Amino acid sequence: SRLKPVCTATSICGYCATGCQLKLHLDAEGNAINLSPQAGYPVNSGMACPKGWQALDPLDSPDRATVPLLRNHKGKLEPTDWSTALQTFTTKLKSIKSTHGKESVAFLSTGQIPLEEMAFLGCLYKFGMGFVHADANTRQCMATAATAYKQSFGFDSPPGTYADFEQSDVIVLIGANLCIAHPILWQRVMRNKRNPKIIVIDPRATETAQVASQHISLRPKGDLPLLYALAHCILRDGRIDSTSIANTEGIEDFTEFVKSYSPSSVTETTGIPTETIEALALDVSTPGKRVSWWWTMGVNQSHEGTRTAQAIINLCLITGNIGKPGTGPNSITGQCNAMGSRLFSNTTSLVAGHDYADESHRRKISEQLGIPYEKITSQPSMAYDEILEAVIAGKIKALWIIATNPFHSWIDSGKLEKLRENLDFLVVQDMYHNTESGLLADLLLPAAGWGEKSGCFINSERRLGTIKPVRRAPGEALTDFRIFRLIADAWGCGDLFSKWTDPQAVFQLLKNLTKDRPCDIVGIENYEHIDREGGIQWPFPELSGDHGNERRLFEDGKYYTSSGKARLHFSPPTAMPEPVDPEYPFLLITGRGTSSQWHTQSRTGKSKVLKKLYPADPYFEINPADATKYGIEANAAIEIRSRRGKMSARAYLAPTVQSGQLFLPMHYAEVNRLTYPAFDPHSRQPGYKACAVKLLK
Ligand code: SF4
Repeated sequence: SRLKPVCTATSICGYCATGCQLKLHLDAEGNAINLSPQAGYPVNSGMACPKGWQALDPLDSPDRATVPLLRNHKGKLEPTDWSTALQTFTTKLKSIKSTHGKESVAFLSTGQIPLEEMAFLGCLYKFGMGFVHADANTRQCMATAATAYKQSFGFDSPPGTYADFEQSDVIVLIGANLCIAHPILWQRVMRNKRNPKIIVIDPRATETAQVASQHISLRPKGDLPLLYALAHCILRDGRIDSTSIANTEGIEDFTEFVKSYSPSSVTETTGIPTETIEALALDVSTPGKRVSWWWTMGVNQSHEGTRTAQAIINLCLITGNIGKPGTGPNSITGQCNAMGSRLFSNTTSLVAGHDYADESHRRKISEQLGIPYEKITSQPSMAYDEILEAVIAGKIKALWIIATNPFHSWIDSGKLEKLRENLDFLVVQDMYHNTESGLLADLLLPAAGWGEKSGCFINSERRLGTIKPVRRAPGEALTDFRIFRLIADAWGCGDLFSKWTDPQAVFQLLKNLTKDRPCDIVGIENYEHIDREGGIQWPFPELSGDHGNERRLFEDGKYYTSSGKARLHFSPPTAMPEPVDPEYPFLLITGRGTSSQWHTQSRTGKSKVLKKLYPADPYFEINPADATKYGIEANAAIEIRSRRGKMSARAYLAPTVQSGQLFLPMHYAEVNRLTYPAFDPHSRQPGYKACAVKLLK
């Protein structure tokens, strides 16, 4: 029967950065008819969350974009052919470039497509088409961690490996709701046989906090003062690791800096009693105890996220909790290939982890790719928020959006109405024709999705894994790779990319580019090698011998800085950008509400099964005492209003939320009408987590 598989193929899941491997069950034509989690894969060992189990559903949606769509003179999107679509694309962008210059166009891409497609897009756009500005939605999820690592270690280098969950004595989860956001990683915690103390630091009593050994319920954005107070106690008491400190720069200045952050001095801002802070300081600095720190968006999406991530890094450096089993300052990324995006997308850094500002890097890229040196730009790109501001200011006239949905996901999204008005040309390249962004496009290019293409992802522990085509894309939809190939030829720069024939060929080009960089993967033969090994973590240089399957960085105490030492970075905490006041008395926290939905629901919202697991209509969580005070009954429809916008949501009475705070899941399009546009000054990552709102019945 049609439902009886004849063979299988493996593929890394296309949602979160955990990087679970799935086994696709194929019919005689090679079409996936079902799937199961892959047993024996080191990341997930036969487990998957609901999104992974239902990963095929979004491919069958009637909302798939199946032909190019072009907006006609009446303002309606209507079907067109690829030839007309490509001609319109090149004519419009060339005209805008010749009239307004190479800085008048930008692309916004994603952490959701394989690194071969990302690299093709970035190299085509900058070296072939000659534009400058581009960024990815990784700015919204892991730019902070990348910046923090780069400044502290000399490279964007998450040091840990998932095995560290199983090898720690103390696991600190800060701003990370693992049970919901990364459920398979929580299973790795549950496999720890060392009887670890699990400490959750979070304003909410999240699902993870409820099952942890200890929940430290701090005030929103009290994290940075708390972390400095911990460093204060540890340095005051000399509970330090002198070997690790010898490999670290800045200890004198840091010791002096944290002297003013005594536990009693931060009790007010953190909401945490001094004795809790002192006890936590002991827990994370006990000699002989392995301590690992793990963070996600509660840290990254903050107006001072980079310094907060670095305050965690600093604690690991001074206590020697780095480069050893069960330790590390470990960022858990959001998207399946966010790590690939930061290294290979040729947006904020030059492809394969190089620097635009370094002439020797530009020459290396030019020589190895066979692209004339003068085409390798040294001009860095604007960040995501700067690109959008430049559109609003009339400097950027055209946007090309690939596999992301900023008209839902960007902070303070009401402002984007102005953005659309100011654009002369908006291209959206997506699997679906009806995302919030796609509906506004002038030209919509129908793209294949996960399951319909091949390439590599890199997960949060630096592990490369492969994805496979197990379905044919519907109608005339093409892989993003094929679309970039067609655009290169239509633009007239196809010859520059004559070797970029298919993802595997591009992988070979990219791996050779990484030689002698920290992310060196020259030792990887090909996709089959990656599959054979159960994924391969970078670095994997030539002549590297047997690495083992779970590897961490900095075991030799050497870092990627010019001095070879890590660097302690710190600066005084700054005030919350939009605190509550009598007019807007609630602090709104946003975040992931379920393990069954993903970001803007573009894909998971197409799955009947996943939709059943999550309310279709917006809801918010409010403390029952506040609900009583404001006369709000359970399930009542309430208007939530900020200074920027409003939305309606049903009240869910939850003692897990502190009094004076509300929690709103980010999966609903209206949420970002409310959020406040604050940005971390180092990473330019938006601070989605805290803004002032009021409730109207
Ligand atoms: Fe694993 Fe993440 Fe996919 Fe769930 S969404 S199956 S946790 S990779």
